[in-house]
Amino acid sequence: MKSRILLLVLVAVLFAAIGVQASQPQIKASQPALTQGLNVPILLYHRLGPAVVDGMTIKTSVFEEHLKYLKANGYHVIPLKALVDYYYKKGPAPGPKSVVIVEDDAHKSVYTEMLPLAKKYNIPVTVFVYPSAISNAKYAMTWEQLKELKKNGFDIQSHTFWHPNFKKDKKKMTPAEFEKSVNTQLKKSKARLEEKLGGTVDMLAWPFGIYDDYLLKKATEAGYRATFTIEAHHATSRDSVMKLPRYLLINADQGKNFARIVEGSAPKRNIVY
Ligand SMILES: [Zn+2]
Repeated sequence: MKSRILLLVLVAVLFAAIGVQASQPQIKASQPALTQGLNVPILLYHRLGPAVVDGMTIKTSVFEEHLKYLKANGYHVIPLKALVDYYYKKGPAPGPKSVVIVEDDAHKSVYTEMLPLAKKYNIPVTVFVYPSAISNAKYAMTWEQLKELKKNGFDIQSHTFWHPNFKKDKKKMTPAEFEKSVNTQLKKSKARLEEKLGGTVDMLAWPFGIYDDYLLKKATEAGYRATFTIEAHHATSRDSVMKLPRYLLINADQGKNFARIVEGSAPKRNIVY
């Protein structure tokens, strides 16, 4: 009797195992594997200007050198959305020499320095904005300027509402306070940007590159379909669309240094944000 029960249990386990295996190809069929060759650097800028006044500023002339280098060497700057669409199988695979250009914080130099060059070289740029600064902080752009960027092909996406440090917030807040704050930061930013500028805001750049599993879950719940870190490597088929890497560029990234970053052969460096 005992052996018969054991046999039944074994058969049940076997069927369960077959069932699990049989269901796997169906999951794979709806999410086919991405092209193995996917290898796209996402280049992150903050501020441009005639002089390097802080660690986050890149000379406008250096930025133009970057664009010239990309053009002269057969690279194509593609919209960030095109890369994300590909991860969702809603768009074609990016070409072999694709590059993405983004900016964080909506500094006013995006309007005065980056926009003219983006027009000159006909490149798409995605700007990650924290709306509390817009038409408010001296260093940031206005809503009118953001509207003009949009008219010129820029995509405007979320960088939370006021750029909090989630690591510090988590330490000083109760879990309930933290959850409320995270929800506000993620949802209010998306809602304000959509209300002011129209269109869909469904991409998020993590302030200071800080994220964890809890924050990723919250971002999904808030309606984001892609989020971005500052881990310095190319976006490949092994990366999750919910934590795509970006190279935080500095003014020293010129000439060979820049070429190595784009090629993916630059030595790893510690990022001081
Ligand atoms: Zn930022």
